[in-house]
Order: sequence, then structure tokens, then C-alpha cells
Amino acid sequence: MYTMLLTEDVVFRSRFGAVSFSAECLAVFTSYQQAKATSREAGGQLFGDIVDLRTMRIRVATGPTRGAVRTRYSYQPDRRQENREIAAYHKKGLHYLGDWHSHPEPHPTPSASDTEKLAAILGQSRHDLNCLLMVIVGTSELPGGLWVSTVTIDGNEEAVREQ
Ligand SMILES: [Zn+2]
Repeated sequence: MYTMLLTEDVVFRSRFGAVSFSAECLAVFTSYQQAKATSREAGGQLFGDIVDLRTMRIRVATGPTRGAVRTRYSYQPDRRQENREIAAYHKKGLHYLGDWHSHPEPHPTPSASDTEKLAAILGQSRHDLNCLLMVIVGTSELPGGLWVSTVTIDGNEEAVREQ
């Protein structure tokens, strides 16, 4: 059962262990890829559970909430709405594990402000972990067009996809 789940998932290796994304998450990411020249950035939150001490499984990726400000090169979430989401998923037993957003480039890398924003969230301790996940969805076919990293107080460290 456990192995079957993982073969369907897309798995990345981080310093904190495996980071596994469900097919449902990938479908959400794909639906917000900035395929057209007019597509605006999108983003949302990542919810899941700690399968064992060395595996985080991301089960749900939410989309932009009401109140989010979206342009071609920026995504500004409504943090109040996002905090409501965190409370709602927590009741269902799913932990807030990080954020995702899109970039209009094939193989995305985080901007300095991307890292700063997540580091600030980490500092506000609305989470149960000592790292947060950062996912950036590029325009290349997924999962090749994904950036995944772990953000800690020490910085932002890229995770590598298992082939
Ligand atoms: Zn960005």
C-alpha cells in the first residue's frame, strides 16, 4: 500500500528526507502553469502529513484564495484567508507544510523576495515544523518544470527529484 502510493507520487529528496507530492497536487500545479503570455502568477498552500520521520507527503495543494493579488510577475496572497485554510485543514488532520506559486519561466528558481517571504512565515510559527517547503511551478511539462526546496532559518536549499 505504502509503496503503491509512492510510485504514483512525485518524490524529491531534501536534507529533511523525502518530499512526496500526490497526483492531485500535480494536477493543481498543472492547471495554474503560466502557459500563455497573458497568464498571471498563481499560488497557494501545501497541506499534508508526516508519513514517517523521513517522509513528508503533500496531499493537497490549494489554489489562489479570494483577495489574492495576481500579476504576470508577482503573486500576493491574502494571508488572512490563508490562515483560515490552515485552521480548516488542521481540523482534518492535515498540516500546513509550505507554499507554492507559479513563474512564467520553464525551469523556475526562487527570487530573493520568494525566500524572504517564506522565511518570514517560518518566523511567525504558524506551523509544526522547523522547515517549510517552497514549490515553484514553471512552464515546462511537470514534474520537470518544478522547483522544490526547503526553507529554514539557515536559508533555502534545493531538493532533487528522484528519477
Ligand atoms: Zn517567485
